[in-house]
This record gives sequence, C-alpha cells and structure tokens, in this order.
Amino acid sequence: MEDCIFCKIIRGEIPSIKVYEDDEILAFNDVNPAAPIHILVIPKKHINSLADMKPEDEKLVGKIYGVINKIAEDKGFKDEGFRVIVNCGKNGGQEVMHLHFHILAGKQLGEKIV
Ligand code: 5GP
Ligand code: ZN
Repeated sequence: MEDCIFCKIIRGEIPSIKVYEDDEILAFNDVNPAAPIHILVIPKKHINSLADMKPEDEKLVGKIYGVINKIAEDKGFKDEGFRVIVNCGKNGGQEVMHLHFHILAGKQLGEKIV
C-alpha cells in the first residue's frame, strides 16, 4: 500500500522506534503516547481494519496476541498489567487504516469504558 503510513514504517520510509520485529509482525512506539508505555503492534501484511480481516488472517492475529505477551514480558510490565485497544472504523475512532493493536502500560489507566 503506497500511501499507508504504517506500510511506510514497515518499509523504513518513515522512522520509528522498533520494539519487536519478525517476518510477519512489527511493533514500535506510538509517536503520540497516551501512557508512559504506548506501543503499536501491526501485521506487516496490509489489512485495513479488524473488520477487513479474512479467515486466513486469524492465525496471524492470534500470533499478534502472543507477541503482545512477549513484549509485556520483555519490557517488564506483564505482572503490573496493561491494556490492549483496537479501534475499528469510524465509530471506533480508527485514524490509521492499517490494522493495529495499541498496548498501553506503565501507569494505572483511567477512563475505563468497559
Ligand atoms: P488509531 O487512532 O488509528 O487507533 O491510532 C493511530 C495511532 O497511530 C495514534 O495513536 C497515532 O499517535 C499513531 N501514529 C500516527 N502516525 C504515526 C507515525 O508516523 N509514527 C508512529 N510511531 N505513530 C503514529
Ligand atoms: Zn498499510
């Protein structure tokens, strides 16, 4: 995807601070953090949103949750806890149309909706 910001980050055309990478998944610090730790985890395959994932993407999305756990362990916030958010579509407030998982950690998170 030529113009997708996150695809540009994957290709190295936009710099990012990477915290995890393998052949299918990239994780990097959010440029505008909403918590002391704010990491975005994305598939390298361009998928517009959660609503656009296909049955064949289910294994990849499952792997993303495993990577999230690994990051939590490696960065040392697994025990104190964290939050994972996926904004989807207009009502979900999604701004970047490349599926991404926000990891928020490092403080007691407020503004619980659910
Ligand atoms: P959304 O609102 O789509 O769920 O979240 C998009 C996130 O991407 C926002 O938290 C925003 O700060 C982050 N973001 C947007 N552009 C960039 C960028 O160029 N680099 C990084 N590291 N994060 C970005
Ligand atoms: Zn993309």
